[in-house]
Amino acid sequence: MGYIDSHAHLCCKDFENEFDQLFDKFKESNIERVMIVCCDKSDLLKALKHQGTNDKFDIAYGFHPSDINKINDNDIDELEQYLSNNKIVALGEIGLDYYWDKENIDKQKEYFIKQIKLANKLDLPMIIHSRDAALDTYDILKEYDKNGKGIIHCYSSSYQMAQMFIKLGYLISLAGPVTFKNALVPKDVAKNIDLKNLLIETDSPYLTPHPNRGKRNDSSNVVYIAQMIAELKEIDVLEVMEQTTKNYYDLFNTKK
Ligand SMILES: [Zn+2]
Repeated sequence: MGYIDSHAHLCCKDFENEFDQLFDKFKESNIERVMIVCCDKSDLLKALKHQGTNDKFDIAYGFHPSDINKINDNDIDELEQYLSNNKIVALGEIGLDYYWDKENIDKQKEYFIKQIKLANKLDLPMIIHSRDAALDTYDILKEYDKNGKGIIHCYSSSYQMAQMFIKLGYLISLAGPVTFKNALVPKDVAKNIDLKNLLIETDSPYLTPHPNRGKRNDSSNVVYIAQMIAELKEIDVLEVMEQTTKNYYDLFNTKK
């Protein structure tokens, strides 16, 4: 058994033409599987192309809240076509981001809800992006999500809020910030949350964890997230690996 990176943008432009080398590197770092999150059609087409020769990753596709100004209802129809006709195991990342965009909150909510309805219809887990918008994200999921399965990715809110998302059926995924020295809130979440509700991720190429900050991030760094969680919980890192990997397969059912 190995580590699973539950969120990485390996088909984005930062990783142009490196796909096979990356997976060679991941094998050496005991990375068993990666969820490749595609935020646009060009990412998606690249990921689908690699599905023929590499079975070490899964695909998620959906419209990120920061791209919502470019999206209309035709894109939602097309999203449905792609999700229905390909091996795509999650709808995401979708959600709300009030950190980067405060001017289009209504449109963000509108397209978040449209994509939730699509996930309900297709019975797909969702990968949720929520930044400075935890309560609105919670309220919308509570009202519209009928499936109650998915991930709150790169979780950055409080332990109390995490418990609320867990009650809705969600897993909490921790990323690089949990390794940052003064990131007290993610550390508190990591320490107190039950391991059976946790996933680990890199969000590559962003958010490189300590001790590699300043370098480009890739999925091999997910080991540092697991190590920090193990340290905070005072347990063996292998326990973190085994349980987070099990949590991932219980949600997505993609174990070979
Ligand atoms: Zn992401």
